[in-house]
Amino acid sequence: MSGNSNELSSERLQWLEKQLQLIKHALARLGLKACSQCGTFFPASDTGALFGSREPVCLDCVQQWWPRRSELLNGRERDVAERRLVTWLMHHHGCTTVKLQEHPMDAQRFHMIASCQRCDRAGICAGSRCGSCDGKGTVWLVAPEQRIRHLHSS
Ligand SMILES: [Zn+2]
Ligand SMILES: [Zn+2]
Repeated sequence: MSGNSNELSSERLQWLEKQLQLIKHALARLGLKACSQCGTFFPASDTGALFGSREPVCLDCVQQWWPRRSELLNGRERDVAERRLVTWLMHHHGCTTVKLQEHPMDAQRFHMIASCQRCDRAGICAGSRCGSCDGKGTVWLVAPEQRIRHLHSS
């Protein structure tokens, strides 16, 4: 090898990119899909592993990804996307909602702010203060503790 071996030539880079594409296609054929944020592969058949299809995101990345993503959406799109995300988190990861002021948030545990589903962010339900969010309009969505511990130990 020459003295330039620490520099990647453009042919070498092109070759590497092609190899990467081939590997990605092979993995997709094997039924694996990557998280768009961290690149980790998951079985595409496991609907709880990745959220969304155009920009799939794994549970570990959702918490960081959602605030950035939601800023790019307009009000209605955001509501629809948030509802889908909340449903996915509750259905596949056993997440539950907790009033904002009731919870000292633990960084180890998955949590994000979501619209209160009972009052639809209004804070008012049937003419009086919404009991699910205490009139705040938003709640914490949190993962069950034992689930997170299990994820970290495996
Ligand atoms: Zn990820
Ligand atoms: Zn409410």
